[in-house]
Amino acid sequence: MKRATIAIAGGNPEHLAPGTPVVSPLVQSVNFIQEAGTGEGLLYARTGGTESLKLLESRIAMLEGAEDAAILGSGMSAISCTMLTLLRPGDHIVSSAWIYGGAHKLFTEELRALNIDVTFVVPTEPENWSAAVKPNTRLLFIESPINPTSRVLDVAPIVEVAKKNGLVTVIDATFAGPINYRPIEAGIDVVIHSATKSLNGHHDVLAGVVCGTKDFVLEIKKKLGNWGFSADPFACWLLERGLKTLDVRVKRQNENAMKLAEWCLTRPEFSTVFYPGLPTHPDHEIAERTLEGFGGMLFLTMNGGGKAATKFTKRLRLAMNAASLGGVDTLVSEPRFMSHGYLTQEEREEMGIPDGSIRVSIGLEDIDDIISDFSQALTNLV
Ligand code: PLP
Repeated sequence: MKRATIAIAGGNPEHLAPGTPVVSPLVQSVNFIQEAGTGEGLLYARTGGTESLKLLESRIAMLEGAEDAAILGSGMSAISCTMLTLLRPGDHIVSSAWIYGGAHKLFTEELRALNIDVTFVVPTEPENWSAAVKPNTRLLFIESPINPTSRVLDVAPIVEVAKKNGLVTVIDATFAGPINYRPIEAGIDVVIHSATKSLNGHHDVLAGVVCGTKDFVLEIKKKLGNWGFSADPFACWLLERGLKTLDVRVKRQNENAMKLAEWCLTRPEFSTVFYPGLPTHPDHEIAERTLEGFGGMLFLTMNGGGKAATKFTKRLRLAMNAASLGGVDTLVSEPRFMSHGYLTQEEREEMGIPDGSIRVSIGLEDIDDIISDFSQALTNLV
């Protein structure tokens, strides 16, 4: 099956009997009648095992090219649960310094409080990764494409460092999703997504996924039950529905984003226009070699700095100034207030996010309307 088909029908039984509902029924029950006198086959929403959850997990695993997948209550649950499964006090991780602000905060504030040491490295140079490895290092954490700059990493040399040192590689591939990028094929061990983003795609579900080997996902499932990272049945039902249109949504976003990026390049108000599909993007060659689509995320920096960026986002009429990404509606945000608001201005600058930066998540609107909206918002801006 191709991925467009998997997103709709992956994991379905081969023969669907007459009377089977075409749409999976929503079973909004957290518990199920149990055979008296036994704990066998206990079904409870926090500890998993319901048929609809199993179907969705296998569908996502197929999309990702992984042996198995687990669904959790949010993208941050997916990252936290992975860390709590793989790490113990006294361990050390090497993480890319260029990651989503929420993950940065988790590592800095929570992992360190658990006596888990973190070294952040500039991710583009493989020797930075190998130089940071210590005897107690357990894993390498990567995000690619990177939030919010849309920089793209070549993970192959990082995977090599991990293999040489017996480490696990974990990637947050939320920005691309499995239509545009399949990190497991590049040798990555664990793939994480905030399913809140393009997997669901409608800005109405909070969920996360972890994909990997059967044994690893089994450990994740034990931990997510213990720590209570589980997803709600209704969220899973909406995610199954959203997933069905993943392929068409992502392909439309790829097209829309390319057109908007090309238009932004012609505008003097932007000092930076980063989109992996543009030949001017610093990682264009890596993106061409490793991605199947360039995605729906753009990174812009305005010549007028933070003031101009705020004025521009305020003036937009169609694109909305809101957190999150990957949905049907076009969103803009200033990372200094949202995804990377917890970092200092200096720390953001080191990540390539000066004040005046704007992250754009392209939706499915007619791109001419988005371009008109951007154009009217830029008119007489300063
Ligand atoms: N990873 C990335 C790259 C993100 O952009 C986000 C949220 O913006 C997350 C993880 C966290 O996901 P969630 O909001 O579903 O917890």
